[in-house]
Amino acid sequence: MSRGNFGRCAGCGAQIIWIKTKAGKNMPCNTLLVDYKADGGKDKIVLQTGEVVSGTIVSSQDNPDGSGYTSHFATCSNAKNFRRRR
Ligand SMILES: [Zn+2]
Repeated sequence: MSRGNFGRCAGCGAQIIWIKTKAGKNMPCNTLLVDYKADGGKDKIVLQTGEVVSGTIVSSQDNPDGSGYTSHFATCSNAKNFRRRR
């Protein structure tokens, strides 16, 4: 088994990758790797190790601290379909 499992978003049909976080939760992420700076910014970056880092997504020319995935919930065009009401 690889670290991530590819799947498809039930909301918008986009390809996603499931990353198991350190907390033991499977998080749906966008398959595109992004570069980030670990500066405590508002973006949440999910590393391939399952660690979730607060930082800012930057371009590869901008001295990134590393690369990781972004949560698909943040960008899903149908994210509201996921929200469950109790
Ligand atoms: Zn989606």
